[in-house]
Amino acid sequence: MDRKAVAEPPPGSPANPIPLSRSKKTLEAYYAGKRLESPLGGQLDVLGIREGKTGVGKVMMECNASSLRFVLSIPKATKTEKADIKKKIEAGEDLFCPRHVDEQRLSKSGKSWICALCGVSYGKS
Ligand SMILES: [Zn+2]
Repeated sequence: MDRKAVAEPPPGSPANPIPLSRSKKTLEAYYAGKRLESPLGGQLDVLGIREGKTGVGKVMMECNASSLRFVLSIPKATKTEKADIKKKIEAGEDLFCPRHVDEQRLSKSGKSWICALCGVSYGKS
């Protein structure tokens, strides 16, 4: 057997961020615009948000104490959220993120309406 050691980037490095627990409390704090606590002490600074392929958003963060990288997965839009946004699109209303506490406008990316802070698509038009 040829056992080639695959050099995996160490957990917490930019190429291999540590997944944060997707607890309700963590997500609620994120939607409220609060800075999240790092599991290692210190706080997490948001570096950027990516749109996941399956509708899941990825928030890349860095711990300001350890400089380790973390990633928070934002659950994809629910049927209820999508139905609600669809109604608003049809009514020509302004679109806001259904989760963020402060009014966060959805922005158009291709055909999708995305929350720039969630990385989640809440509707299409
Ligand atoms: Zn949002």
